[in-house]
Amino acid sequence: MSQREWIEKDFYKELGVSSDASADDIKKAYRKLARDLHPDANPGDTKAEERFKAVSEANAVLSDPAKKKEYDEARRLFASGGFGPGAGYSTGGGGFAGGGFDLGDLFGGGAAGGDGGLGDIFGGLFNRSGGRSASSTRPRRGSDVETETTLDFREAAQGVTVPLRLTSPSACTTCHGSGAKPGTSPRVCPRCNGTGVVSRNQGAFGFSEPCDDCRGTGSIIDEPCSDCHGNGVTNRTRTITVRVPSGVSDGQKIRLAGQGEAGLRGAPSGDLYVTVHVRPDKVFGRNGDDLTLVVPVSYGELVLGTTLSVPTLDGRVGVKVPAGTADGRILRVRGRGVPKRGGGAGDLLVTVKVAVPQKLDDPAIEALRTYLEAEKASGFDPRAGWAGA
Ligand SMILES: [Zn+2]
Ligand SMILES: [Zn+2]
Repeated sequence: MSQREWIEKDFYKELGVSSDASADDIKKAYRKLARDLHPDANPGDTKAEERFKAVSEANAVLSDPAKKKEYDEARRLFASGGFGPGAGYSTGGGGFAGGGFDLGDLFGGGAAGGDGGLGDIFGGLFNRSGGRSASSTRPRRGSDVETETTLDFREAAQGVTVPLRLTSPSACTTCHGSGAKPGTSPRVCPRCNGTGVVSRNQGAFGFSEPCDDCRGTGSIIDEPCSDCHGNGVTNRTRTITVRVPSGVSDGQKIRLAGQGEAGLRGAPSGDLYVTVHVRPDKVFGRNGDDLTLVVPVSYGELVLGTTLSVPTLDGRVGVKVPAGTADGRILRVRGRGVPKRGGGAGDLLVTVKVAVPQKLDDPAIEALRTYLEAEKASGFDPRAGWAGA
């Protein structure tokens, strides 16, 4: 139904009330008519059904103060000639370009495929084929695909390019996804003019529903591609190379836009979600962007201080251990951890842990005894100030 027809429709007359009827009068009139005309009360009576729809439509507008105001305003302007056919008024486009007022709003969308709005009132009632959402009127986007991959610790930390084998429907290589036999091409569906939806006039109001001729795709294939039978999609195994960014952690899911299943007949592809598993490393651990590392040291090294050579993701680094460092202390090396997405890197956290010798030769034992005497003489008591003493 065009907007002109819509404006010319008299919703007041439909409900049998005057144009200055009160909200209460409108409600009463609608209730009575709805009861009398309800399909349950008139099985098989298509005339009553038509009337019921018309009445419901009228009520949907007149019972809503905002919609009623716009409707009244539009009718008033239309009657006064403000919206003649040449006055910026268009059908199907949703809106009066020149009027500063959009009738499409009344129906919650454009004229062809308004989502929600009045259509929904009837959709449930008459078991109309639902799916009036925008997606049903366009070729369908491909599905998302999920897969997983296992990376080494260092690969995950630094980022890596890995091949992934995927078996999934993808755009048919024979017809390049069009679904039409090579040398031919799909033609625009004449019934819906390629929009994928058709309007049906029902009493005062037009309904949009998916076009049956083209199953809502908007195009018709006369000679289908023999490899994909017109779907534009074939099942195939493909290997894609995926760049996994640095810093992914175990169990993380990364999204690769457009790498999922191909859409039907050239519609956009879905996304690929890759769940990443990370093998533990023999040396490093992770704490967010920080890399952790435990370095065995001797007691003497902690007492006297030393410089340790420790591995990093891309080489080695010297870590200064100050004299008198306690066992278990964590030394921080800034910027030598896991690379961050936006640049920079986390820190390398080095834990020093005393390794106690299990076996020493006699001279070492003798020297240690001498040392302990000297330590005592210098006033060191390991349990001084200990609460358990
Ligand atoms: Zn094909
Ligand atoms: Zn069609």
